[in-house]
Amino acid sequence: MGVTGVILAGGSGERFGAKIPKQFVKLAGREIIEYTIDVFQENKNIDEIVVVTRPEFDEHIWSLAQKNSWTKLVRVVRSGVDRFGSTESAIQALKSRGGDQCVVFHDAVRPLLDHATIERCIRALDDYDAVDVVIPSADTLVAVSKGGVVTNIPDRASMRRGQTPQAFRLSAVEKAYELANRERRRDFTCDCGVVRAMLPEVAIKTVLGADTNIKITTQLDLFLAEKLLQSRSAEIEEDSLVSLEGKRLVIFGGSSGIGEAVAHLASDLGAIVRTASRSEGGVDVGHFDAVQNFLSSVSHSDGPIDAVINSAGLLIRRPISQMSEEEIESLIKVNYLGALNVARASRPFLEKTDGMLINFTSSSYTRGRANYAVYSSTKCAVVNLTQALAEEWTELGVKVNCINPQRTRTPMRIENFGLEDPATLLSPEVVARHTLAAIASGHTGMIVDVKTERAR
Ligand code: C5P
Repeated sequence: MGVTGVILAGGSGERFGAKIPKQFVKLAGREIIEYTIDVFQENKNIDEIVVVTRPEFDEHIWSLAQKNSWTKLVRVVRSGVDRFGSTESAIQALKSRGGDQCVVFHDAVRPLLDHATIERCIRALDDYDAVDVVIPSADTLVAVSKGGVVTNIPDRASMRRGQTPQAFRLSAVEKAYELANRERRRDFTCDCGVVRAMLPEVAIKTVLGADTNIKITTQLDLFLAEKLLQSRSAEIEEDSLVSLEGKRLVIFGGSSGIGEAVAHLASDLGAIVRTASRSEGGVDVGHFDAVQNFLSSVSHSDGPIDAVINSAGLLIRRPISQMSEEEIESLIKVNYLGALNVARASRPFLEKTDGMLINFTSSSYTRGRANYAVYSSTKCAVVNLTQALAEEWTELGVKVNCINPQRTRTPMRIENFGLEDPATLLSPEVVARHTLAAIASGHTGMIVDVKTERAR
């Protein structure tokens, strides 16, 4: 029996306060709905996808389908005035094809759905006609009257929080909607609610969802989703690193430390790597022309550039009163002007390949610390620059991310701190793996935290 994923994307997003419905708002450079549909496209149990949306977004959905190669998307149907109407519209569209089918309804605004949850839903349909996805509630749930007075405090242990997906045999959910229509009822917040009210004899099986499967409703949710995506991309998917074979990478500051480790690992993975630094080829990121000339010569000799990594950085750890003007200028020039120069010079090359720029920051960017004033404030600027350019260049197809490694065992660190407990330091090789995983992920606007096992 075929399984169809129905993505409910007909909401107006009033609570969210944006001009466009929240499912079309950007999260790390891509629209929320793109993540959601990707999960269904990639899930091996899903055969077809139907999207329910307002007619004015029809064309937009099809253009996203083309961009993302969603081969399973077969139909975009009209949403209703409310969620009930939207589900009903999908049921009518599926019904017209005849035969019993399995259908998995999912909110477009839950982009972080995991495959295991979909799998649990579909497996449960072997024995049940309706399946709900739930998680335990850490908060006590309180029922209140219209006037705000408590009417019931149910036992928390038996309470769950309902998420989506919700999965059904089409015949069951179709019948429930038919009965609800006959009784002119549509005051339901979810599809299991319709089945429960209209077909009380049908057992609705619950399966476990995930805390991370959040529904993006407010700006706070969007912030959380971005953080969750970041931690997801910090988990290295070894398979994804294979995709770097044959890619052309340019690394500024590639002669030592993290840059050198990235160069070695990328070469081992079959990438074509060119490195430049002050000591190697005399390329100073503080000079725009030097950066541009290097990129032009690489592109000339090797062909299109897929990623540019700027790991050039300078650290002088001292009270600001003990620093000379030259030292302050050189910190700003390497760490900040360098990041701007590499970004500006790389853009035209990366535009041709839908490529990626990678910057590096330091964990001191979130909070200035004594003796790091210039260093940490330039690194803070690099994060801000990454976020701004990621937004500015989304339309061009250029992705921009920033790696935020915890203290790492590099020559620069040893020069400033001497010998430290090795267990508290990351190895440059670990940082390199995360850097290449970020490139393979294709995300943009991410600040990827890399931590030691101990700090996680
Ligand atoms: O409004 P609510 O938070 O229940 O929305 C949950 C999901 O249902 C969202 O993905 C939204 O786009 C969808 N929806 C819909 N049609 C409506 C209202 C909401 O498809 N008329």
